[in-house]
Amino acid sequence: MSRHTNRVQRKVRMPSNSRKKNKKESVKKAGEISCGIASCDGFSDKHMGGRSLSQENAIETWGEGGFTVRKNRVRVCKGCYKAWKKDNKDDNNTQY
Ligand SMILES: [Zn+2]
Repeated sequence: MSRHTNRVQRKVRMPSNSRKKNKKESVKKAGEISCGIASCDGFSDKHMGGRSLSQENAIETWGEGGFTVRKNRVRVCKGCYKAWKKDNKDDNNTQY
């Protein structure tokens, strides 16, 4: 496994703590439905691009027990859905 530590010089501005922090925790469009994937903290709300997969589909990608089932569906966030999609692409012939 080659591990390329690509040190990209990106401008990471250290968030200075001088920024007022005590301004009432800004709840920025938080989701309500949390992602069903155990290792994910995302939200699967529709307005956030969430999707629901069938258990079978979820098992293929995350394995049994790696997610929470809700009403026979697995709610996943946008990111997880993408990951799943990518994962499942391999089964098909990649033809563009
Ligand atoms: Zn997720």
